Amino acid sequence: MNDATPKTAEQDEGEIVRCDACPVICRIRKGRSGACDRYGNVDGELVRLDPLVVTQQVAAEKGAVVPFLKEHWDGSLVAGAPTFLTGIGSGTTYPDYKPAPFIVSTQHRGVDTVTVVTEGIFSYCGVKLKIDTDRYLGPEQAAVRHEGEAVGHVTTAEYGSQMLSLGGVHHLTGGSKKEGNATCAALLALCNKQAVELTVDGGSALIVQAGKPPIVDGKQEQRMRVGCGSATIGIFAKQWHEHADEVIVVDDHITGVFTEHQAGKYLDVRAAGIRVRGRRSTPGRYFQVANPGSGWGGTDVTDPLSIIDRIDPKTAWPGLRLLMVSTTGEDHAYFVLDENLVPVAQPLPPGLNPVVGRIEENCEPAMTSVLFMAGAGGSLRAGVTENPVRLTRSVRELVTRVTCGGAPVYVWPGGGITLMVDVTRMPENSFGYVPTPALVAPIEFTLPLPDYEALGGHSGEVKPLEAVLEAVARRQSWPQPSDNPWPLDPQDRLT
Ligand code: SF4
Repeated sequence: MNDATPKTAEQDEGEIVRCDACPVICRIRKGRSGACDRYGNVDGELVRLDPLVVTQQVAAEKGAVVPFLKEHWDGSLVAGAPTFLTGIGSGTTYPDYKPAPFIVSTQHRGVDTVTVVTEGIFSYCGVKLKIDTDRYLGPEQAAVRHEGEAVGHVTTAEYGSQMLSLGGVHHLTGGSKKEGNATCAALLALCNKQAVELTVDGGSALIVQAGKPPIVDGKQEQRMRVGCGSATIGIFAKQWHEHADEVIVVDDHITGVFTEHQAGKYLDVRAAGIRVRGRRSTPGRYFQVANPGSGWGGTDVTDPLSIIDRIDPKTAWPGLRLLMVSTTGEDHAYFVLDENLVPVAQPLPPGLNPVVGRIEENCEPAMTSVLFMAGAGGSLRAGVTENPVRLTRSVRELVTRVTCGGAPVYVWPGGGITLMVDVTRMPENSFGYVPTPALVAPIEFTLPLPDYEALGGHSGEVKPLEAVLEAVARRQSWPQPSDNPWPLDPQDRLT
């Protein structure tokens, strides 16, 4: 219960209270909660049920920020530590003209500072998923489903990662009720760092979770590739040319062939006469050697020799040593050509073992990144100022810092306040939902007091942080991770 929650309900007849914190306008009986489970009727009072979360900068004796060990943290406030009020548990004001639930003042580095704190209701929101894998997840534009409903689509593949775009207003509110609810459930779980099952039409089944390795068709991904096949040839050329006459790095994007590649030319290696399938782009770089899939290097190849088109008897020779390897080093095979120039599998010789190991060593752990993306629209901005466009300009001019749960956000160039935030930098369970359906996310706007007054802020609503904290019965502290900038510090464009 949060007894500093601004009154958003009208006492109804009997023991029912009416919540007007969102357009659903729940009538809540005593001892029950509303449709979103965020508000409840406690002894006839409407209360925000979750604790108000503050983030604190906890310093050790010599001033260094204490590493964030959340498993050892009991949520109590640390006396004297710099404190920032997040939007988590703060509540929402609706309709738009009302000031945000909390507008707090504090002094930071001698500057009077204001933070406007709220939980925004976002129908226009979604997540961008970066899944570190070369495995084929499905065709670009294919529908991504959760509980059988379309909740997003596959978008462009990036370097070593496959990208999904989920949510958005069309899936949340533009389709059937079932589609909207499935979309909202998937977004909520992903943003709260939980594992979510997804399927891609014509592609894979996935289990994804922020900060964890993706599981593709039941197989947990281990490594992100070191580079494309061509880059892998370039990086390791010198290290393997003593130990192999030809190296083919199998990759769905660009398969690399050592002796034809510029790296091989520089090292003056002898042509091997082994021609791979696919379309030659430039010397030693081949596109489309196979179909995309879950095999070697994101192709459907399980037998690497299947990508060899021909071996030229005028150039190749018996005894030629051939290494075939994937872009993560996970798949590799070694062959020696017999007297008929047929590749015969052999154990990997000791000299090549370390080089294959070096490829693996240079691959970063595969993980799933979840970025929440949303537009801070009318109700949010009107809760900050009576003249919302001034807030937008102030954000763009870096006078106002935007944070989500105290975590830094990236604000897109162009109109509006369209932001992205890495959910792993936010406190646990930062997100909620309302059944319109829409996601509820914490958002804070911080700026110097004179600038707040100049942009037409609700100056009469400003209260000292200490007074707000004193008035709140349930509050929880979350140590600011040391790699998050302190929300009250001056900002630059990269944070
Ligand atoms: S869904 Fe939640 S926020 Fe909306 S009116 Fe009901 S209890 Fe209030």
